[in-house]
Amino acid sequence: MHTKSTAETLLEKKLLNFIAVGPLIFIPFVVILILFFVIRYNQLQLEQSVKEITSSYINTQKSISLAKVENAAKLIEYKRSMTKELLREKVKTRVESAYAVAKNIYAQNKAIHTDKEIQKMIIDSLRPLLWNRNESFIFILDHDGVFYLAPDYLRHLEGKSIIDFQDATGRYVIREEIALVKTQGEGALWDTFIRPGYDPDMQFEQLAYVKDFGAYNWYFGSSEYLDTMTKEMEKEAVDLLRNLSKEKSSCFFIMNEAGDVIMHGHDASLEGKNALAFKDANGRAFVEEMIENARSGKLAFVDYKWENPETNVIEHKNSVSRKVPNSDWIVGSGFCMDELDTIIASKKEELYEKNNTNYRRIVYFSTVLLLFSVLLSYKISMMLRKRLSSYAKTVEAKNRELTELNQSLEKKVYERTEELHDAYIKMKHLAVTDTLTGIYNRYYFNTALEKEIYRAHRYERSFALLMFDLDHFKKINDTYGHAIGDMVLLTLSNLVVSCLRESDIFARIGGEEFIIILPETGEELSLEIAERIRKNIESYSFEPVKKVTISIGLVRHKSEEGLEELLRRVDSALYEAKNSGRNRVIVGD
Ligand code: GH3
Ligand code: MG
Ligand code: MG
Repeated sequence: MHTKSTAETLLEKKLLNFIAVGPLIFIPFVVILILFFVIRYNQLQLEQSVKEITSSYINTQKSISLAKVENAAKLIEYKRSMTKELLREKVKTRVESAYAVAKNIYAQNKAIHTDKEIQKMIIDSLRPLLWNRNESFIFILDHDGVFYLAPDYLRHLEGKSIIDFQDATGRYVIREEIALVKTQGEGALWDTFIRPGYDPDMQFEQLAYVKDFGAYNWYFGSSEYLDTMTKEMEKEAVDLLRNLSKEKSSCFFIMNEAGDVIMHGHDASLEGKNALAFKDANGRAFVEEMIENARSGKLAFVDYKWENPETNVIEHKNSVSRKVPNSDWIVGSGFCMDELDTIIASKKEELYEKNNTNYRRIVYFSTVLLLFSVLLSYKISMMLRKRLSSYAKTVEAKNRELTELNQSLEKKVYERTEELHDAYIKMKHLAVTDTLTGIYNRYYFNTALEKEIYRAHRYERSFALLMFDLDHFKKINDTYGHAIGDMVLLTLSNLVVSCLRESDIFARIGGEEFIIILPETGEELSLEIAERIRKNIESYSFEPVKKVTISIGLVRHKSEEGLEELLRRVDSALYEAKNSGRNRVIVGD
């Protein structure tokens, strides 16, 4: 019979518990794992963003500074390149306005005044017109180089010819001017002068614009030093950059290659000073480095610590410088790293704030998800558990039914086997038993005799064989009927059985013929047994039959003798008993 073992039940219980608790542990575990990865990913993203912000801010500032410096250099270059043209326009305008004034006086007075008078009116009206700290003026000469209107310091030359005047390089500039007005009416000429009030070794380029008057062989002219105009233009550029520098985030500075500070947007006190030997708080010769970078055209940033003159705070600066083309000027600009730090810090703060909001969202969302998943998994587990336990119960009931069925089946099989066994025993008995007398039949006797012969041969033992036949039995049948004949046969058999031992084998081998195997029985004893049987039958009363006798043949088995020979001998002994008068025992030889 099959019953569930304790170990199995325990295992089932454990399995059920696992199904109930497993998802409860597993699902939150997975959710937490995902959460961990999401947060970690977010964190990495944040770190990356912070790094990018810093480098992108620095890069942006650098690009801005580079663009500023580039534009500033271009501005200065442009202003300088424009100088000559502007100078020409300026001087030309001046000459033209003087010319217009003169023409007007001439037109209005030529009919009423003498030439001399008109000339004097023109000269008087133009003499006070002076420009650039008295350096520029209108002059009038005639085609012979005679001075009609001269600047104050050359007044003594008025009325005299300066046709042979040479400039600092030896050019006959008056002659060139006369040739120009004669051929083209008006035009500009460059010459070189030693400037009054300046070092006599220095030569200054000067532009002269001349225009023929068309009367008195006069021509009008004015000149101006290029240097003056250049300075003016530079001042304009410098002022522009200075104005731009007023903004806190942008500071320009200009110096020359020698390190002389021309303009400093945030510290005007430096202007006019030489900064070449300046070193920063760390001993870095940053000015020299900037000049070197500008000279070599390397657009590299130099960072240094410098005290802010307004706040007296040492600031971390990062500046780039470049040369103004065709000049010895260097223009630079930079940004304050500390300012940048503040901006980056605030950006970072913003980013962290955003990130924290993200975290809060993630945690909120995950918590909801977690609770939901726990609830769901609990529900699922409970359902599974219920299902499984009901399933287990069904299985258990079915199992019990099966066990019972099995048991009844086993019982039935047992009973059936018993019956079969009985039938077999019965059949076996019937197979070897004679139906009328209940003693062994011929079939059994044959087998028993074979065995006995074998035994005798093997153990060298001897046995006796006794065969008998009823005398005149036909007559009994005929006289009393077949039923009485049968009764005689049965009674006789019982009578014989009572004369035999356990080990003797008694069988009916024909209608009224019997045989007995007497194992381990000697000659004497076997004869004694045969006689006893014969006598018992003879003396027995088989009512209504008067007398019943038998004839017996008796032989002893001889060693090496076979079954057929033995039977033949016993049959022959019986035959002899019949022939010799019946109701006797004949021992075969
Ligand atoms: P004897 O042997 O002395 O020569 O004479 P007998 O009359 O016995 O001769 P026989 O052997 O020819 O006869 C045997 C008779 O036994 C024939 C038969 O009717 C009878 N017989 C054989 N078997 C049975 C039986 O089972 N029941 C009855 N009632 N009679 C049987
Ligand atoms: Mg017979
Ligand atoms: Mg007979």
